[in-house]
Amino acid sequence: MADRYLHFTGTAPGRFLTKRLGLPAPAELRRWTPEHPALEGDLLHLTATEPLPGLADVLSRTGLPVTAESARPAAVVVDATGVETPAGLAAVHAALHPVVRSVADCGRIVVLGAPLSADDHHQAAAQQALEGFVRSLGKELGRGSTAQLVRLGSAPAAESTLRFLLSPKSAYVSGQVIEIKDAEVTAPGSWDRPLAGRTALVTGSARGIGAAVAETLVRDGAEVYVLDIPQSEEELTRTAVRLGATALPLDITAPDAADRITQALGHGGLDILIHNAGITRDRKLANMPGERWSSVIDVNLDSVVTTTDALLKSGTLREGARIVATASIAGIAGNAGQTNYAASKAGIIGLVRALAPQVADRGITVNAVAPGFIETKMTAAVPLFIREAGRRMNSLAQGGLPVDVAETTAWLASPGSGGVTGQVVRVCGQSLLGA
Ligand code: NAD
Repeated sequence: MADRYLHFTGTAPGRFLTKRLGLPAPAELRRWTPEHPALEGDLLHLTATEPLPGLADVLSRTGLPVTAESARPAAVVVDATGVETPAGLAAVHAALHPVVRSVADCGRIVVLGAPLSADDHHQAAAQQALEGFVRSLGKELGRGSTAQLVRLGSAPAAESTLRFLLSPKSAYVSGQVIEIKDAEVTAPGSWDRPLAGRTALVTGSARGIGAAVAETLVRDGAEVYVLDIPQSEEELTRTAVRLGATALPLDITAPDAADRITQALGHGGLDILIHNAGITRDRKLANMPGERWSSVIDVNLDSVVTTTDALLKSGTLREGARIVATASIAGIAGNAGQTNYAASKAGIIGLVRALAPQVADRGITVNAVAPGFIETKMTAAVPLFIREAGRRMNSLAQGGLPVDVAETTAWLASPGSGGVTGQVVRVCGQSLLGA
C-alpha cells in the first residue's frame, strides 16, 4: 500500500506545509541496491575511554573509509566499552556532542558497550546508561538516521553485526540493543554471498514479508525452499519461479509438517529455518470465540515450537544452523483486539530466549525479529486511522518495507552471526509502542 504522505512530504509544497504545521517529516530511507550497496561517506571512529582491541581492524573491513575526523560522516562508531563509572559517561558526551549535527542524512550512529558486570554495580550503571542514551539519541536524530547500542566482549564476533548496522540494509532498524556473545565465529567465504552453500526454508513465503525474506536469502547465495498453505499454491509457485526457489505447499500446522519438510529436502539438511508464517484473527477478548484464539496460537506459536523441536530432533537442522522466528511489537507492547496475536508473538520471544542456550553447543543460534508497522497485505487491511498512526508513531515517521525485515533476517542467518543468539531485534523504525 502506497504511503502517499511520505511522497507528499518529499515535494516542495509538502515540505513547506509539514514545517509550517509541525507535522512529521519522514525522510526517504536509503536502502540497499546493487548499485548502492554501501553508505556513502566516512566512518568516524571515536573512542570514549580505552579502545577495544581489534576494533580498528574490523571497522577497516566494513568497506567505509575509517577516519578520526570528518566534516560529514556517513556513520559514527563510538567505542564506549571501557566506560566503567557514571563519571566516565562524560567521555561519551564529549565524543559525540561535537559531531552529532554533522552526521549525513540516513546516517548511522553505533555505540559499542561492554556486557553488564554482575559484580561491579558502577560498571553496570554506566553501561546500562548507554541504553537510555542511545534510545534517546535515536529519537533526536531525524533525517532518516539511526542509533544502536551493541554490547560486545571482543571485536571479531561483532563483524557481521557491524557490517549490517553500518550499511543501508539496516535502514528501518533503530534504537536497538544487540548483545554479542564471544562465540567462535566463522566468517563467510564471501561477504557478498554469505549464504552460498546453505539451504534455507522460509514459511509463509508466497507473498509479503516471507517472499521478501526468501528473495534476500537467494540474493545472499542460499538455496531456498518457500513454504505456504496449499490454498496459496498458485502464488507460491509464482514466487518460487521468480526467485529460482523450490515451492513446498504445506500447512505448517499439519501434524506431519516437519516430516514432510525433511522429505522435501531429500538427503540434504537445513542450515536456515525462518518461521515467518503468521495470521491475525482480531477481536476483543470478550467477543473472541475459542476457534479464533486457537487458530492464531496454532499457526503463530505452536507450529513454530513443534516443527523446530522435530527438525532439531531428527537432525534435519544441521550443526551451526540459524533459526529466526517472527515476533511483533504487538507481542511486546500488546494491542487492543489482539490478545491472541500478541500472546502468540510474546510466546516467540520466550521460545528464542530459552531455546538459544539449549542448542548453543551445536553452534545453532535462535533469534527473533519483531517487525513494527510493515507495508504488506496484512497492514493494508488495518482501518485507515490506525494505519496512519502505525506509520507515523516511530522515530523515522514511516512504515517499513518487507525488505527491511528480510535484511535483518539475512544478517541473523549469516554464518558470521554466531555470536548473536537469544536476541529479539525490532524492525520498527524505533516505534513508540512498547519502547
Ligand atoms: P501476510 O499475510 O502477507 O503473509 C503471511 C503468509 O503466511 C501468507 O502467505 C499466508 O498464506 C502464510 N500462512 C498463514 N498460515 C499458514 C500456515 N498454516 N502454513 C503455512 N503458511 C501460512 O503477512 P505479512 O505481513 O507478510 O507477515 C509475515 C509475518 O510477519 C507474520 O508472522 C506476521 O505476524 C509478522 N508481522 C507482520 C507485521 C506487518 O506489519 N506486516 C508486523 C509484525 C509482525
